[in-house]
Amino acid sequence: MLVLALWGLGPIAARADCFPISDPAYVTLDPLVDSDPAQALRAVAARIDTIDQAGAARDPRQLAALYAVQADAYDILELDREARATAEKGLALVNGRTDPLRLELLSTAALNIYTQEGIHEAIGAIEKARARQPPHSLSNLCLEIALGTLQRRSGKSALATRTMTQAYHDSEMPARAEAHAEAAIELSSALRGVGDFQQSLTLAQEKIAWDAAHGDAQAVSVSTYLEGEDLNAMREFRAAIAAFERARGISVSLGDHQGVAFSDIRICQSLIELHQYGPARPRCENAARIFAASRSTDMLKETQEHLAEIALHDGRAQQALGILDHVLDHDGADMAPLRVNIAYRTRARAYAAAHNYHPAYLDLEEYLRRYRAENLARRMRLQQTVKERALAQEEIARNAVLEHQLTLTRQRETRQTETLRWAAAAGTAGVLVIALLSYILITNLRHRRDLLRLATEDHLTGMPNRGRTLELAAAALQAAAEQRRPLTVAVMDLDHFKAINDRCGHATGDHVLREFARVSRGSLRATDILGRLGGEEFLLVLPDTTLDAALASVERLRVLALAIQVPCADEEMRMRVTFSAGLATTAHGARSLDEIIARADAALYEAKNEGRDLVRIDRESFQTASTGVRRALTQLSSAAHRS
Ligand code: GH3
Ligand code: MG
Ligand code: MG
Repeated sequence: MLVLALWGLGPIAARADCFPISDPAYVTLDPLVDSDPAQALRAVAARIDTIDQAGAARDPRQLAALYAVQADAYDILELDREARATAEKGLALVNGRTDPLRLELLSTAALNIYTQEGIHEAIGAIEKARARQPPHSLSNLCLEIALGTLQRRSGKSALATRTMTQAYHDSEMPARAEAHAEAAIELSSALRGVGDFQQSLTLAQEKIAWDAAHGDAQAVSVSTYLEGEDLNAMREFRAAIAAFERARGISVSLGDHQGVAFSDIRICQSLIELHQYGPARPRCENAARIFAASRSTDMLKETQEHLAEIALHDGRAQQALGILDHVLDHDGADMAPLRVNIAYRTRARAYAAAHNYHPAYLDLEEYLRRYRAENLARRMRLQQTVKERALAQEEIARNAVLEHQLTLTRQRETRQTETLRWAAAAGTAGVLVIALLSYILITNLRHRRDLLRLATEDHLTGMPNRGRTLELAAAALQAAAEQRRPLTVAVMDLDHFKAINDRCGHATGDHVLREFARVSRGSLRATDILGRLGGEEFLLVLPDTTLDAALASVERLRVLALAIQVPCADEEMRMRVTFSAGLATTAHGARSLDEIIARADAALYEAKNEGRDLVRIDRESFQTASTGVRRALTQLSSAAHRS
């Protein structure tokens, strides 16, 4: 599976600029890595030569910066061993624990380790480095993403999902768009690992859009392949084939043969699922040719196993047996365990088709034994997933067919002892499978609930987070348009909040945010939506509410905010909590959410400009206010201008 790990899931996408490195050698050469890694390698080699010739006074720091560039280039070229060794040479030359150059080298080294022991050590190193970064910094975020990646590679899918959900959430702001895309594809892989293919798919598509917008063809091809994996796992075979074809097209244009082979084997597999054996065959044959040339044994054997299945279907049972004997020659030690099981099952069917029942029984027993052991191992790893559920159900169906075939044969043959043994094996497997299915169902539901909460709730205030708030707002807006009811939104931003943090401490700032959330929630209707957009900014959505009524609601919030206590050592700062707000209304007209929020935002900006602790109304919405309110507001604003 090493090839898959490298090709399918490796750190191929253009890397975010995570650490603020200012060493001149790095600053000048590293940009070259994304555009032309081979050229970057040549440039680094030339510089190292010059340094070597100068002899005596070698500057270790400059050398380390060059190694960092070299390691990045190897990383992009998927030469994991070289990347790691080079990064480690660099690490030996720099000491500062918060040194950005050191962090860069550390994460390149960590992400290029594929042995379990090495990954385990790397996790420790990354966690230690992370503890020294400021909480909301980009460095911290990048290390968090690296940590999640390593956790996933070490098989800790549930933990990785948690870390990546957090990183995805932490990067939800325009300035972190690149890291956000990285977090999206990593979270997607983690969710695939725990069987949440629907979510995994959405995230893969988000990454595809980002890569496409940034013209990174290789990354688009990888993300699109992963999209196909999700669709395949969801049994959406036609859509999966379409995705693999797109990924393949890009691989062809980039001359990436390995990429073509991966797409072809998956297309072949999906076509077999659709019983289109004819078109499947040339795909598998092409993949086999490429995997043979690159000596990717595990992938080659998987491809051959599909070819055997096709041969069996075409009535070439002897040929299928020949292929499978080769596939299973070292008892499948050089293949993924799941594929070995399937190979035994296919060979059992091939023997049965050739009327050679004794070895068919033996292979079938071997298959059932491995299937049982494999399922138990999975259960121990707590990686119970929807895919396993779907697979298990399919296995049960297939086993039933096999059982039926063999039962018929059994009636013809008089093999009493074999009969008894087979019945016992099938019976035990059935009971185990049922127990396992209930177990998977329970853990999966619990896990999904946790994930959903993590992904939609703001941790500090318990309010809906930005993504969730916008989702709820869009739904409310659509309902308002359909029912032709008014809807008003307010964007609210606490005033001089930074001063509270600076003078009273971050904990007090947090306390104010929590209190504001708590008291506000209490004064709103159940149908009103209040969520945190980020920092000290909130979105209030009031369905079925005109501008006049909305003004009254916001005024209620203003009074409640004033009553919040600000625990602070600095006497002067035991001040009132105020906010500024901008309002906009749809007044029956269909509006996009983006537009209405932009209008409210512009009004908020005016309120801030005019001195804060003010409510301002979007100019166009203002026309819908009652005459009384309009008069009052006009007077107020001219008073503000006079003062
Ligand atoms: P203005 O009146 O113009 O809105 O000024 P401001 O100080 O409120 O606005 P600014 O955007 O300059 O500062 C917002 C601060 O809010 C900066 C940031 O550190 C702080 N902040 C953001 N999120 C949190 C949080 O979760 N907890 C705390 N305590 N502070 C936060
Ligand atoms: Mg503010
Ligand atoms: Mg703000």
